[in-house]
Amino acid sequence: MESIYGYSQEDFENYLIAQGEKKFRAKQLIEWIYRHKIESFDEITNMKKDFIERLKSDFRIDRLECVRLQESSDGTKKFLFKLSDGNFIETVLMVNEYGHSVCVTTEVGCNMGCCFCASGLKKKIRNLDTSEIVLQILMVSLLADVRVSNIVVMGIGEPFDNYENVIRFVRIVNDPLGLEIGARHITISTCGLVPKIYEYADFDLQVNLAISLHAPTDEIRNQIMPINKVYNITELKKAIEYYIEKTNRRVTIEYILLQGLNDTMECANQLADYLHGLNVYVNLIPYNEVLEKPYKRSNQSDMRIFFDVLKRRKINVQLRREQGSDIDAACGQLRSKEMKKEGKW
Ligand code: SAH
Repeated sequence: MESIYGYSQEDFENYLIAQGEKKFRAKQLIEWIYRHKIESFDEITNMKKDFIERLKSDFRIDRLECVRLQESSDGTKKFLFKLSDGNFIETVLMVNEYGHSVCVTTEVGCNMGCCFCASGLKKKIRNLDTSEIVLQILMVSLLADVRVSNIVVMGIGEPFDNYENVIRFVRIVNDPLGLEIGARHITISTCGLVPKIYEYADFDLQVNLAISLHAPTDEIRNQIMPINKVYNITELKKAIEYYIEKTNRRVTIEYILLQGLNDTMECANQLADYLHGLNVYVNLIPYNEVLEKPYKRSNQSDMRIFFDVLKRRKINVQLRREQGSDIDAACGQLRSKEMKKEGKW
């Protein structure tokens, strides 16, 4: 039996046609599932009894079990969900001036092996399926009683290493009859799987792209991000250029500041050179230190100098304000603690 949350309106249309039912019922189904947030098919009032029985035998209306909820002093909430196979995933809700943003996880573990990141401490166990990604949004909106307005695909996992499910997820949450989260309010972040960036540039929805760059040269990037040995920064830049040309959208460049490694004035200038002429916005991110990792957060004054160099070089840049650092909101940290507790580490 399949989860109802893995189906887009179009999938329901195909299902209905195969059942000899009217196609327009797909719209009704989406409304029942995402507007009324039904917990049982019996709540549906505008469909025949035998069709409702059919739905019951073909689909399940599932939930994710929330095993822990941490709340930060700034309102950020971090949910630890247990999947039906016992794996844990993390989802974060952030409150900001433009609404409620949710950061979703796309994989159990991650294979990218970025040296500074807690998520990659354990290899990928499996991809999340579409419904498990959609359910994170639904569960957060139910548990926190909010309307989710923005999504960042920046939780555990490399979304472009689970491309099909992530794209299906985007279509489902974007449905105007359902959760209605505008494509422009959705951002997918990648460590730089170049072929998928090209594919994504050709995707018909106007979803945003963020690139985890974190280094201005191959020399430094090779040290901290193994993916760079597969697709170097020159190839990455070409893909970014293609995306911008194709979509006319500004790309976000994420850059974690790691003490003594990528936070020097020289690095700032090299970064400005690399980004010269690209329609990008740089997010400088204070590193969240990870117990198992040797990397240190840059000190305030170095971050400021780095920021000022980019500003002077006319690069759009912001020093990201931190959220939820008092609740292990740094990628993968809550999950790794829970796994240790359960002896799964
Ligand atoms: N795999 C995707 C998305 C998940 S990671 C990607 O690489 O973009 C989301 C972002 O958090 C990435 O920019 C990642 O490099 C960054 N990140 C990972 N660990 C971090 C830490 N300890 N502190 C701050 N940012 C971190």
